[in-house]
Amino acid sequence: MPGNDFDVVVVGGGAAGVAAAKRLQQAAIRCLLVEARPRLGGRAWTVTDSKGFALDLGCGWLHSGDRNPWAGIAAASSLTIDKSPPPWSKPSLERGFPRADQAEFQRAIGAFFARLEAAAQTEPDVAAANFLDPDCRWNGLINSVGTYISGVDLDRLSVKDFDRYEDSGVNWRVVEGYGTLISGYGAALPVMLDCAVTGIDHGGKRLRVDTAQGAIAADQVIVTVPSAVIAAGGLAFTPALPRKIDAVRGLPLGLADKLFMTLDHAEEFDPDVRLFGRTDKKGTGAYQFRPLGRPLIEAYFGGGLAADLEAGDSRKNCEAAFFDFAVAELMGLLGNDFARRIKPNGLHCWGRDPFALGSYSSALPGFADCRATLAEPVDDRLFFAGEACSAHDFSTAHGGFLTGVAAAERVIGVRRKSAAKA
Ligand SMILES: Cc1cc2nc3c(=O)[nH]c(=O)nc-3n(C[C@H](O)[C@H](O)[C@H](O)COP(=O)(O)OP(=O)(O)OC[C@H]3O[C@@H](n4cnc5c(N)ncnc54)[C@H](O)[C@@H]3O)c2cc1C
Repeated sequence: MPGNDFDVVVVGGGAAGVAAAKRLQQAAIRCLLVEARPRLGGRAWTVTDSKGFALDLGCGWLHSGDRNPWAGIAAASSLTIDKSPPPWSKPSLERGFPRADQAEFQRAIGAFFARLEAAAQTEPDVAAANFLDPDCRWNGLINSVGTYISGVDLDRLSVKDFDRYEDSGVNWRVVEGYGTLISGYGAALPVMLDCAVTGIDHGGKRLRVDTAQGAIAADQVIVTVPSAVIAAGGLAFTPALPRKIDAVRGLPLGLADKLFMTLDHAEEFDPDVRLFGRTDKKGTGAYQFRPLGRPLIEAYFGGGLAADLEAGDSRKNCEAAFFDFAVAELMGLLGNDFARRIKPNGLHCWGRDPFALGSYSSALPGFADCRATLAEPVDDRLFFAGEACSAHDFSTAHGGFLTGVAAAERVIGVRRKSAAKA
C-alpha cells in the first residue's frame, strides 16, 4: 500500500478513472487510483494475438472521432489512428442479403429511428420496441442492430435515452488498440491494482475507502465503477445512498460480446466489410471481415443473444459457445467448407466479468433521467463519473473520459474554495 491517506481517491481505473486521476495529477493534487483488476483500462482492453495483432475485446471505435478527446491523446502518444470508414457505413456482403433488400432494410431502419426521435419528444418515456412497424419484415434485424448499439433488445430500451445520444458520425480506430491507448494514458499515475474497493464511508469528517488491502482516508472520492457493479452491491455506501441505488438500477449494463476468429484465405474478402448471420429473425451476429485489413473476422453479438450464449456455456471461458454459433451462421451463408477456414482467436464474456457485469449502460424505459441523478455529487465530497453518468456520450470510452475530467474539475473547484477560506 503506497500510504493510506490522500487528498482524493479515484475508484476504478477505466477511461473515466484514468482521465479523472490524470486531471487531478496535473493540478498537483495528491490522489490515488484504486483498481480491482490487475490492469488499467476496464472495459477498454487490448490483447495481442499469436500473430501480433492488437485485438480490442472491449471498446474499439473512437466514436465521434472528430471531437473525441482520446483521438488527440492517441496522436500525442504516437499511436496510429485509422480513419477508414466503418463497415456499417458501407454496403454489406451480398450473401443472403441482396442489394435491393439492403436498400429496403436501410429505409425501414431509417424510418424506425425517425419514429423514435419523434416519440422521444413526448411523454411518457416508453420502450423503443413500441415503434416497430408490426408489418415490417425487417423487425428482427432492426432489433439486432439495436442490440449492437445499446446492448439491449428494443423492449428494454428507453426511447428518450436513445434519443439523447449524440454522434458526430465520424468513427476511427487505434491500430495499436483503444485499450492500449487508455491504459497507456494512466501509466504514470499513482495506482493500486488488484485492489477491489468494498465500501465507502462518507459519514465522518473525512471519507474512508475500504479496500481488499485496508482502509484509505481521503477528503474527496470519485467513484467510476460501472453502474451494474453498484446496483449489484459490489460497493456499499455508508450512510446508504438510496437515490444513487435507484439511479443505477435504471441504468443496467446491456451486453455486447466480441469474438475474434482467424480466417484462412482472407484475401477473398474486402477489408472491413460486414455480413449479418441472418436477416430474417432477431438474435444474429454481425461479422466484420478483415478488420483493419487483418486475416480475421470480428463478430459482434448483442442483447439477449449474447446473454443466452454466455449463460449456455458452463465453462469458465464461453468462447466455444460463441464460436459454435458463429460457425453455424457462417456455414449457412458461405457453405459448410467455410468452417475449416476459421478458428476462435479471442473473446471476453463481459456479463460474467464481476468488475463490469455487462458491456455498456442503457436506460430502462422510464429511467432516462437516471444519468443526471447518478452524476450528482454528494455533499461536494463524493463524486460520480463513468460512461453511465454522461448525458449525451454514454456507453462510450470518450463519454467516460469527459465525465472523469468533469468530476476532477469539480473536485479542484471545491478544494480551491476551501483553500481560499482557510
Ligand atoms: C464489447 C464492447 C465493445 C465496445 N465498443 C465500444 C466502442 O467501439 N467505442 C466506445 O467508445 N465504447 C465501446 N464500448 C464501451 C466502452 O468500453 C465503455 O463505455 C468505457 O470503456 C467505460 O469506461 P468507464 O471508465 O466508464 O468504465 P470501466 O471501463 O468499466 O471502468 C471502471 C473500472 O472500475 C473497476 N472496478 C469495478 N469494481 C471495482 C471495485 N469494487 N473496486 C475498484 N475498482 C473497481 C473496473 O475493473 C474498471 O476498471 C464497448 C464495450 C464493450 C464491452
